Amino acid sequence: MASSRSQSANGSGSGVEDDAVTQGRKLLDREIALGLDFIPEAGALQAIPSGGAALVSGIDLRITASGAVPSRPVAASSGTNPVTVAAKGERPVVEEIPEALVEPGLHDAASISEIRDVLGDCQRCKLCESRTNIVFGVGDEHAEIMFVGEGPGADEDAQGIPFVGRAGKLLTDIIEKGMGIKREQVYIANVVKCRPPQNRNPEPDELVACEPFIAKQIAVIRPRVIVTLGKVPTQALLQNRVAISKQRGVWHSYRGVPLMPTFHPAYLLRNPAEKRTVWADIQKVMAKLGIERPTKR
Ligand code: SF4
Repeated sequence: MASSRSQSANGSGSGVEDDAVTQGRKLLDREIALGLDFIPEAGALQAIPSGGAALVSGIDLRITASGAVPSRPVAASSGTNPVTVAAKGERPVVEEIPEALVEPGLHDAASISEIRDVLGDCQRCKLCESRTNIVFGVGDEHAEIMFVGEGPGADEDAQGIPFVGRAGKLLTDIIEKGMGIKREQVYIANVVKCRPPQNRNPEPDELVACEPFIAKQIAVIRPRVIVTLGKVPTQALLQNRVAISKQRGVWHSYRGVPLMPTFHPAYLLRNPAEKRTVWADIQKVMAKLGIERPTKR
């Protein structure tokens, strides 16, 4: 079955060729970027030229009170730069998704359900072969906070809902007991929508195939804050290979949206002492959003 991603809107030969060249170049860029294992993780990596996303471990992010387009992220020479946050309740302006990331149909999708319709019975990558259900995402389409994980596990694959296993229970506790808000008030999704076999990490071609959908989900929801959970979604959205231990707890930017990386709840199940670290990261998110810590009952 031909992938719908490789078809132009009108099916013309030149459109198909252009699209194929663009997609091929993007895949190559991305695989190169994701394969730079030899580069020391402590350093900030440079941008993939086509994406224009922030690829630095420290950013200068300014979101104006008038809602004007934020300044482009700039590379930090060291450490972290000050972050000027949006006023309470203000949404960031999400930078435009590069054309290379948008296929016909997805470009015009204006709601979460329309994005889901475009995804369809997706066979854009090999993860479709072993999945039970596509795990698209769950929560409030108008959420101010979006949690982005890696990919579905066994429980999620069986139920078609993200973060419903033990790690999901812990995430729910972080949201409800820690932040004092309902899980239904946030939006939760993964960078790949189908379960990788044996819970292996998603491979570069799979991340590239699925990336337009998480990018469009973020563009439509326009959250005030994204929280990435663990190494894979953090590196995928920031397009680098920096260790999660070096990226967590510091504000980054994804297309103009403030992004806070933290550890994955599954990691916390194995390393409960790190709950304190995650709580520190979550408190930064709460402070940015003006969420007060719930009082103990
Ligand atoms: S992981 Fe994403 S791109 Fe791959 S088959 Fe599933 S929905 Fe499609």
